[in-house]
Amino acid sequence: MKIQNLDWDQLGFNVNPSRSMFIAETDEDGNWKPGKIVPYGNISISPASGVLNYGQGIFEGIKAFRSAKDRIVFFRLEENAKRFAASAARVVMPPVPQQLFIDTIHEVVKANEDYVPPIGRGALYIRPLLCGSGPVLGVSPAPSYSFIVFVSPVGPYFKGGVKPLNLLVTKDYHRAAPKGIGNAKAIGNYSASLYPQRLAKARGYDEVIYLNAANEKFVEEVGSANLFSLKGKVLKTPRLAGSILPGITRMSVLRLAKDKLGLKVEETDLELEEMLTADEVFCTGTAVVVCPIGRIAFDAEEHVINQNKMGEVTRELRNLLTGIQTERTPDEFGWITSL
Ligand SMILES: *Cc1c(COP(=O)(O)O)cnc(C)c1O
Repeated sequence: MKIQNLDWDQLGFNVNPSRSMFIAETDEDGNWKPGKIVPYGNISISPASGVLNYGQGIFEGIKAFRSAKDRIVFFRLEENAKRFAASAARVVMPPVPQQLFIDTIHEVVKANEDYVPPIGRGALYIRPLLCGSGPVLGVSPAPSYSFIVFVSPVGPYFKGGVKPLNLLVTKDYHRAAPKGIGNAKAIGNYSASLYPQRLAKARGYDEVIYLNAANEKFVEEVGSANLFSLKGKVLKTPRLAGSILPGITRMSVLRLAKDKLGLKVEETDLELEEMLTADEVFCTGTAVVVCPIGRIAFDAEEHVINQNKMGEVTRELRNLLTGIQTERTPDEFGWITSL
């Protein structure tokens, strides 16, 4: 199939409309009815829907790439399917069976194949949603649900190359608390982070680093990316204790750091003090991949990490990951599947 004639180099990480999307609904017993591909566009929904009234909704974020083998590939799609089911269960929604999830993603990407950017110019960002679409009034799970998948071609997250981020540690807000829904990709988590993010941006920072809610001693994550800190040969990331989103990039970076770079990796309580004096600090996520953090502000003090430059290990991990994702390097771990 021909590639769309878009101005690929002008694409940012924004919603850029595509041809079509998928939508399926459950019956009142929570069983999935056959879904269908429809033109990309607005949907209609009950004003009494569970998602509009009580935030009963979850999402995923996935990228499809054009690879060096001249095919369209996904990175660890099965992991997204698993996490989507786990997130659904946490907010009492009927999970989308994992094979149905994977087949649906394939179907939508196939229908929008020509919107996948040329190799190295971005990706087709895939956004699966699951929400309570049936009407409720008292606080309770909705009677029926919608599973929607839309796609949008996106450019690289950082135009003009990766730049180290300038982050602000906040003690004024928490993203999530243990035993809450921070470990689910539940939509409510993100509305909670918009205000702290706005305040940080107004002060010139790129994003916020959240501390653990219990005693504010340990770092948790950035609003939509996981955190890592390197000192010598030891790479640490906060352990998954309930309030942190289990990132698939995080999981992959831990494996690459251990198996390919021979680093000692630890999932642990990561003290803020330790991170402020680290050799390298970076964050990970599907959108940012692996992104260096060059400055961290805390308590009116600016801490510069690695002279505000991308560190060697950060660069290697980023290259290893993007190499696998674009099939420029062999996929030893069986992480890649193709359309
Ligand atoms: C999605 C997400 C991440 C990154 O997860 P990936 O699977 O690596 O994309 C990290 N933190 C939060 C809060 C997220 O929502």
